[in-house]
Amino acid sequence: MQDILPRVPLLDLTRPQLASLLAGWGQPRYRSDQVWDWLYRQLATDPAEMTNLPKELRARLAAETRLELLALIHEQRSNDGRTVKWLFQLHDGLTIETVLMSYPPDEGPGQGETVLMSYPSDEGPGQGRRTVCISTQAGCAMGCVFCATGQAGLARNLTAGEIVAQTLAAERWLAGEAQNDEQGGGGESQAAAHAPRPAPAARRLTNVVVMGMGEPLANYERTWQALAALTDRDGFNLGARHITISTVGLPHGIQRMAAEPLQVNLAVSLHAPNDALRGQLAPINNRYPLAEVLAAVRDYIARTNRRVTFEYALMEGINDTPALARELAVLLRGMLCHVNLIPLNPVAESPYQPSGPERSSAFQAILERNGIPTTMRMRRGVEIDAGCGQLRRRHA
Ligand code: SF4
Repeated sequence: MQDILPRVPLLDLTRPQLASLLAGWGQPRYRSDQVWDWLYRQLATDPAEMTNLPKELRARLAAETRLELLALIHEQRSNDGRTVKWLFQLHDGLTIETVLMSYPPDEGPGQGETVLMSYPSDEGPGQGRRTVCISTQAGCAMGCVFCATGQAGLARNLTAGEIVAQTLAAERWLAGEAQNDEQGGGGESQAAAHAPRPAPAARRLTNVVVMGMGEPLANYERTWQALAALTDRDGFNLGARHITISTVGLPHGIQRMAAEPLQVNLAVSLHAPNDALRGQLAPINNRYPLAEVLAAVRDYIARTNRRVTFEYALMEGINDTPALARELAVLLRGMLCHVNLIPLNPVAESPYQPSGPERSSAFQAILERNGIPTTMRMRRGVEIDAGCGQLRRRHA
């Protein structure tokens, strides 16, 4: 028999909404805390696992709600095993990408190897980091010319649950890997959605970067709802400083971020130090020119006293000349910021190709000489289409 009412996606609910749903079913208040715990701490994928709930409640949850929002349709793992990329299908057939990157204990902040990058965290040497890069939209309306996602356009915003579910899938996958290691497994890859769940105390993911498909500040409320769920102390309990939102530079969104109590990190994709070039690479610059973006960033820094990261994807012969490096240094002089240089992950048939090591190093040296702190990331996962939108494009 077909469902008469659509089933409620539990991960789309805020904590108060979940409490209200269960209160409406006549459940005592503590039941919603238990369900929240199952969803975010114990990573349940089926109400049948929620063994401290009465049988009738489990049956009702199974009948009237949904836990799974993502169907894994493709998984690719890099040759060194440290980067895994997933293509997930949503309920309406659209697809999104999620990438998990692992850094060994001796790889401290600033030496990570990823085009998607990882941000400094509290872990420090000796702990290792595991960073998931999540998507906030199916597609993207920003149209950056060097990006496979931007070329495909925007299909729709993701729901908060679809954003959260990517992080939970990565955590389950890590737990499955750890279990595999403990059992002396052969290191075979396993499907994220079907991985066993970890013991609650052993969360393995250390960082979340909101830097996958889509512009997170164009899906502001849902992105923020997802982050609120992930940072809830009674649930997934990820520290806000372990989360970075990367934007192409929407000034009003940056201003909103400055007022948020949840102090996540901000990264802004710059890619060029002047409007003429930036307008070619990232057409949104024609609507929000650099002066407006940087004014919002300065305001953000003044209000939060937090260092901002500027992303700069180095493209051979396009934005990597010494003159542009000097112009960038002048533009950012005196700001509490840091520039993350990333040789572009090339898209097939694209005229935009990554800068070579010599040009990249020369560009970095000019910034450093002019007092702008930088990090240079090596590309990672090229063989698994790790750049944004590439796996999806290939699959399509
Ligand atoms: S680079 Fe980011 S903002 Fe630009 S089109 Fe791609 S996904 Fe959108």
